[in-house]
Amino acid sequence: MNDAVLSPPPHGVAGGPKVLLEVFGCQMNKLDAELVVGALKRSGYDFTDRDEEADAVLLVTCSIRDQAEHRVHSHLGEISVAKRARPDLAVGVLGCMASREGESLLKRWPALDFVVGTRDFPSVATVLDEVRADGTRIVAVDGSPQVSEEREIDVRPAKSRAYVTVMRGCDKRCTYCVVPNTRGLEVSRPMEDIYNEVHRLVDDGVVEVTLLGQTVNAWGRGAGNSLGDLLERLEELDGLRRVRFITSHPEEMDDRLIDSMANCHKAGLFLHLPPQSGSDAMLRRMARGYTADRYREIARELKARIPGVQMGADVIIGFPGETDADFESTVELVEEVRFSQAFLFRYSPRPGTPAWGRLADDVPDDVKRARLARLQKIQAAIQEERHQTLIGTRHEVLVEGQSRRNPRMLFGRNLAFDRIVFEGEPSWTDRFVDVEITDSTALTLSGKRVEVVPAACP
Ligand code: SF4
Repeated sequence: MNDAVLSPPPHGVAGGPKVLLEVFGCQMNKLDAELVVGALKRSGYDFTDRDEEADAVLLVTCSIRDQAEHRVHSHLGEISVAKRARPDLAVGVLGCMASREGESLLKRWPALDFVVGTRDFPSVATVLDEVRADGTRIVAVDGSPQVSEEREIDVRPAKSRAYVTVMRGCDKRCTYCVVPNTRGLEVSRPMEDIYNEVHRLVDDGVVEVTLLGQTVNAWGRGAGNSLGDLLERLEELDGLRRVRFITSHPEEMDDRLIDSMANCHKAGLFLHLPPQSGSDAMLRRMARGYTADRYREIARELKARIPGVQMGADVIIGFPGETDADFESTVELVEEVRFSQAFLFRYSPRPGTPAWGRLADDVPDDVKRARLARLQKIQAAIQEERHQTLIGTRHEVLVEGQSRRNPRMLFGRNLAFDRIVFEGEPSWTDRFVDVEITDSTALTLSGKRVEVVPAACP
């Protein structure tokens, strides 16, 4: 139902009121949930993953797609039933849906006690205290544009890996996107704040950080910095082994960043750079700010200057006005760039986006589905071919855990962000293992352990 119930943090306040935190959506939301956990822990709250124990249920929500919101609404329906039996249960919606819908969410769901927007997380404990004290219903969606990232270093899903928000909001106005409405305008955190946070994470056992921002490669713009400067600063940090960053915008790519990626050994060999379409007409209508040829040029530069670099894509299929010829341009781009992974979506109109009410959703659903199926097939063939070429090669894999389907198998990722499965001991989780690829499909790379690197992670 939900994407994740955040595990109870290691040092919850035993005996404090218990919170069940459920997280929907992207990595940014998972990190937001960690900030919420930190704020609640400081105020004496404890955590649980069991419905029946919870004094409060908080949903960290996502607005990016219709389906994501639909899942939250249907979950609120279930919680409403539970609340009839337990009227003292406090229920809150946090994050993008709270920012976008505000008070109207409270009107629609009488069981809901409060909403807290994406820039109001620091106030979440105060809001929850008030709701529990006197049953007030609260809307907190006008937070400061300053980025507050106070976090508990030890509250994170993995010992060896952590997400770090380096900026919030977005100054673009892509016509299909609600983010500028829900997360506000772009604000970058200062370099030293980020460095210090990563330093504390590394002291606590983290070897890989993922820097998060809606347009992460625009980081530092106001202060005259570039993401390349940040990569170079983090390169100096002893104990840190890998730095990833998502999501980059093609319009913000420059030589400085490509140089830094080429020079910094810790920078991941993977760039998530969504083209969204290969048709200039569609890119104009989406207000993306680049052409398909500019995108090709960036891809060529990256591949020429950073040996082994891989690229990831998001593509929207059936955007308003997309003709067969437009779609063929997207197919050509995908075939030419050869992404190592791609998220392919059918367009659906979203209230609150610039396209809403202005661009008719005029590509019939069966056409969208047929185009999606064709592109999925092409992308699968590209991945399968690439994976075949990796058989026999060796990779340093940071182990993330045991496979759900087969607990004897571990999975992890190499520097190019490929997911690799192999047989091994659960105790290798959070360590680096050298793996030789022995088999592959379009989706999976399988291998065998060559060596477990000792003491890779304290
Ligand atoms: S760059 Fe465009 S798609 Fe990405 S968050 Fe900003 S407005 Fe949305």
